[in-house]
Amino acid sequence: MKITNIRATTVTVPLEASLRHSNGAHWGRFVRTIVEVDTDEGLTGVGEMGGGGQGAELAFAGLKPYLLGHDPFDLEALRFKIANPTASLYNNRTQLLAALEFACLDICGKALGVPVYQLLGGKVRDRVPFASYLFFRYDNPATGTGEVYTPDQLVAHAKELRDEHGFTTHKLKGGVFEPAYELACFRALAEAFPDDRVRYDPNSVFAMDDAIRFGRAIEDLHNDYYEDPVWGLNGMRLVREAVRIPLATNAVVVNFEQLASNVRDPAVDVILLDTTFWGGMRACVKAAGVCETFQLPVSVHSSGELGIQLASMLHMSAVLPSLTYAADAHYHHLDDDVIVGGKLEYRDGSIAVPDGPGLGVTLDPERLAYYNELYHKLGTYPYDRDLDRPEWFPLLPNADWAPVKHVDSGGLAGLAELADIPAPPWRS
Ligand SMILES: [Mg+2]
Repeated sequence: MKITNIRATTVTVPLEASLRHSNGAHWGRFVRTIVEVDTDEGLTGVGEMGGGGQGAELAFAGLKPYLLGHDPFDLEALRFKIANPTASLYNNRTQLLAALEFACLDICGKALGVPVYQLLGGKVRDRVPFASYLFFRYDNPATGTGEVYTPDQLVAHAKELRDEHGFTTHKLKGGVFEPAYELACFRALAEAFPDDRVRYDPNSVFAMDDAIRFGRAIEDLHNDYYEDPVWGLNGMRLVREAVRIPLATNAVVVNFEQLASNVRDPAVDVILLDTTFWGGMRACVKAAGVCETFQLPVSVHSSGELGIQLASMLHMSAVLPSLTYAADAHYHHLDDDVIVGGKLEYRDGSIAVPDGPGLGVTLDPERLAYYNELYHKLGTYPYDRDLDRPEWFPLLPNADWAPVKHVDSGGLAGLAELADIPAPPWRS
């Protein structure tokens, strides 16, 4: 079988509200790149990558001279053809490789009539549990609801998600407000659901003293782990020596070199696997094998997925014997998806691993065209800027936190266009 074409399409899919994080916010939507890989046998595979726009579409088009004629089954050769580690010193294509690997595995599964998890070793679970993944949020301009600022709002939001989807693990994305305020929010969350598990992630922005003070102040809670309190392997090592909670990272152990360093001189206890950051599902399964050997627990990171990337997370998670934590996903914050039938459903806090051939999800051409048009209408947005503090950017460590009381500087007016989006035709 030979690859005959690679097509990349940028899409914008609305979120229920704007999600805030330590560097800025997701401005009411996700922008993603959907990749379709065609073959001479009539099979097409689908992949997905974060971000997008003309740059990403051109980056995929630029790989055609390397990959036209390549057999999608030759996955190791694919890696060295476009992401050889020495060549990657000049052009890092890890994330492009990941999206193409999803598509090639989708093709392989379809060709053989088996789900991708069969190609990865076979599933050891039928469903993957997920965490609630809570954010501080700005209002949705279309509904005037969705704001999460206060401990009460956070707990109410968590309760809604818990009731609707069945989550029993709650992750709070922090690093937005001053640590003492976020501590009050996180403790309120943990104390509202004392039988559930919690995890906190300030995206690496704490100073060492803030990180240790915060960590010690939550040691009594039912923590899964304390995620990326500070930046850098040595910073994490210092926090680990001072705080009695396992540390987790999706930031400073994201490749095999860093994993080797962490095995030799431990800085992090739990490695969060991301099918994009690591360069595909197979790289994650390999990394999980290394972790299993050294008895390092693994969990699953979310880089803001639509259904295709979510499928990659489900197939990868399905085959890992050592996965004992709920996975992270932004997925429940999405208003819709680009796959046939819309969003996959949560039940009891988990999502079923797709059993159809390949990734087991099908790209919906009508949704793809609609959300591509929406991308062209709204344009991209700066992920690393806060809507309402346009001049601000964080130092590392950060000490310039968002005001706890919201003062509208007019930045949210940038979301007005989102309020005017008509309902998609399949809903009316
Ligand atoms: Mg994280």
